Amino acid sequence: MERGLPISWKLKKKVKEALAKERGTVYKDHGGKVRVCLIYPNSYSLGMTNLGFQTVYHLFNSLDGCVAERAFLPGKEEIEEFARTSTSLFSYESQTPLREFDILAFSIPFEDDYTNIPKILDLAGVPVLSGERTGFRPLVAAGGVAVSLNPEPLAELMDFFLIGEGEGALAPVIDIFRDANEKGLSKKETLKGLDSVPWAYVPSFYQYVFDGARIKEVRVEAGAKEKVTALKDFNLDKYPVPQNFIMTPDTEFKDTFLIEVERGCGRGCRFCAAGFLYLPPRWRDIDNVKEAVKTGLDGSGKVGLVGTAVSEYPQIIDTIEFGVEREGEVTLSSLRMDRLDGNLLGLLKKSGYKTITLAPEAGSERMRAVVNKGMSNDDILASIRLIKEAGFLKLKLYFLIGLPSEEDSDAEAIVGLTKDMKSVLEKGEITLSINPFIPKPFTPFQWQAFEDPSVIDRRLSIIQKGFSKVNGVNVKALSSREAFIQAYIGRADRRAGPLIIEASSKGWSRVIKKNSGLLNQSVYMERAREERLPWDMIDHGVKKPYLWKEYQKGLEGRLTAPCDVGSCFRCGVCLPEYFNYEN
Ligand code: SF4
Repeated sequence: MERGLPISWKLKKKVKEALAKERGTVYKDHGGKVRVCLIYPNSYSLGMTNLGFQTVYHLFNSLDGCVAERAFLPGKEEIEEFARTSTSLFSYESQTPLREFDILAFSIPFEDDYTNIPKILDLAGVPVLSGERTGFRPLVAAGGVAVSLNPEPLAELMDFFLIGEGEGALAPVIDIFRDANEKGLSKKETLKGLDSVPWAYVPSFYQYVFDGARIKEVRVEAGAKEKVTALKDFNLDKYPVPQNFIMTPDTEFKDTFLIEVERGCGRGCRFCAAGFLYLPPRWRDIDNVKEAVKTGLDGSGKVGLVGTAVSEYPQIIDTIEFGVEREGEVTLSSLRMDRLDGNLLGLLKKSGYKTITLAPEAGSERMRAVVNKGMSNDDILASIRLIKEAGFLKLKLYFLIGLPSEEDSDAEAIVGLTKDMKSVLEKGEITLSINPFIPKPFTPFQWQAFEDPSVIDRRLSIIQKGFSKVNGVNVKALSSREAFIQAYIGRADRRAGPLIIEASSKGWSRVIKKNSGLLNQSVYMERAREERLPWDMIDHGVKKPYLWKEYQKGLEGRLTAPCDVGSCFRCGVCLPEYFNYEN
């Protein structure tokens, strides 16, 4: 859709009102700089709550030769106003139309937001398909967890992807773009330059041949690299805790100062994409964390400790104590049951915590062994006793259904275990969050088929009926239909691109109906061991044979010990040369 230059005063006013409420916004002169518009493919409030989005905004702006502004998916009413006034989507900071930027960079944590990307490009007057954008600018790129797991569903929409973690990833990209601009290179020549960056993936350099739902062959363009090496740094302290996030009252965390204390989880839960993607577990130095807590509490009185598995941070007690001593509020993004003790719970209570959120994942001990969450029912009930003694009355519990080798009796076990927890707790309220298991790339279960929705629905109904006469237990669930879409998109090949574009305007129901053959085949297919998977061109460090071994161990219900960083080298991420054996 070709759009004109007028900007609706109403839309501009709304953006300016949002900017007026922000603290920490970066305003940079555009002159002589590579201009990046960083886009969150959902609302302003969700984007500003996202740590990854905020981090990348500051990483771009920390580069002298680059200016980054932000854009989001406008609300429904605003989209109507864009259409009514022929306004082209514009950035927040300088209200510049998106198509005038050099690079449009999407930061995408969740696959659910893929259908918002065509809407945003359309509102910006930028062709949705990479092949239709023949000019040098804007290049359209994506990064973030979702595309680092599997970029292929967006392969036809994006010119390039940045795979892995953001720190250190951006400077070479900006340099290559500036150089290409100065030399007057074409888009294709620029993409060739970008392909020299190990963590950049240029999808148009790869041609796929399919056989039904499977990949038969991949032809790599001459000169392009065969493997994309995801970027990750073993030393989190190389990058200081960002002190300059934009604070705004329009977000979930409002005035919370977020501190990433650790990255990666060494517990090896076999369904968990974040767990495997961010290996190895890495921790920030406690002195740096305390410094950040002090800054956060001085500024806003409230800090949020975040990470892949925050309660695994070895100095978590020290950190919370440090905050509580300064009469600040300290929150944690997640807790592991086997890390709970009276001391930690007491501190959480003092720091203003109200609800304890735990993830037993499965109701039976057998299923917990399948997913490598080796806690006995007795261990779990002992944790609940501690929670009760600390005076908490609200529990939120996460469970998965439709796991490999699961039976109806395992759903009944979720009811049984929750009732036992309720009896221990006596008073108070338990909320169960039930999610269908979705096999994810780069996990041991990446080969597994998605469970038949009728089976998922039956197990959900066992759980719901189990609590129909129980007071104080609420059950919330993601529908099997929504999970089906996520299961398709998460592991799809590049043929998903046109379906995402169609679904963005017409909805998924129609797309699923029209393409049921391919979708069903892809979602319900168990992949073969040696089969080429759509994300196999990426190397995150964890070796495929290790994941297969873990898959088989899971099916046999055998546990794997947690990471032992520095002396364990089994999965391939940690290499002996990273560690100094003399110390
Ligand atoms: S090599 Fe061992 S310690 Fe390192 S990430 Fe893999 S499992 Fe964990």
